[in-house]
Amino acid sequence: MANERTERTERTTKRTKWVVGNWKMHGRLAENEALLRALLQAGSVTETVRIGVCVPAPYLAQTEALLRSGPLAWGVQDVSAYAHGAYTGETAAEMAAEFGATLAIVGHSERRAYHGETSEVVALKAQRALAAGLTPIVCVGETLQQRETGATQAVVGAQIDAVLDTLSVQELARIVVAYEPVWAIGTGKSATVDEAQQVHAFLRARLAAKDAGLADVTLLYGGSVKPDNAEALFGQADIDGGLIGGASLKSHDFLAICMAASTARAV
Ligand code: PEP
Repeated sequence: MANERTERTERTTKRTKWVVGNWKMHGRLAENEALLRALLQAGSVTETVRIGVCVPAPYLAQTEALLRSGPLAWGVQDVSAYAHGAYTGETAAEMAAEFGATLAIVGHSERRAYHGETSEVVALKAQRALAAGLTPIVCVGETLQQRETGATQAVVGAQIDAVLDTLSVQELARIVVAYEPVWAIGTGKSATVDEAQQVHAFLRARLAAKDAGLADVTLLYGGSVKPDNAEALFGQADIDGGLIGGASLKSHDFLAICMAASTARAV
């Protein structure tokens, strides 16, 4: 038991904490500039926490210009499953990479729900992101009805399996997974630390079952993370940080969440 605990602690402390903002379809030039300039004041927290923002694609150039010389990463909220071609309205991962992006959210529940994205398409998007040198943040999560009917593990298991079945182990080692219960996104009702930890542990076990080396894949929690619940969530053994929606639009809150990531101690 003691050995198990030691091994677990070593593995947990090896993983770097991440905090990534998902701006969704918010922001305009002037607001973005104020927000990005404020985030540049993050200071020493960037030494221990990887911080990034996923902005609307039209603002990649602005983001690159403002963040280029600093420690913050940036990226997009979706990429096409294709490299190029007649796909009106889509953004290729390679295009985002040309603007210095290193992150791409794929499979956000809003894309799955409003744009009919299947888990298979999400897996292809993750693969395209990797091919362009981006880190895909693969989102998975269940609806309230699915949770209430006890289907959480079946749903997130199937979502992650599509990625595990499509990507090679080498590719999988470069992804980030975000568990975002749909009922917690933008609702102000976060999962409890126990609910979130349980699903994270399940996802980590699923990854490790594919290949032991995947036990260290970064797993983020998303869904109504705020300055007052961030530290408790990020202190769970299998939660490596957060994907932050609403609170990422307020520099004060976002920086407080980044600070919580740096002070959170894994249980
Ligand atoms: C999100 O959209 O990825 C998200 C986590 O939103 P919020 O933090 O607002 O719940």
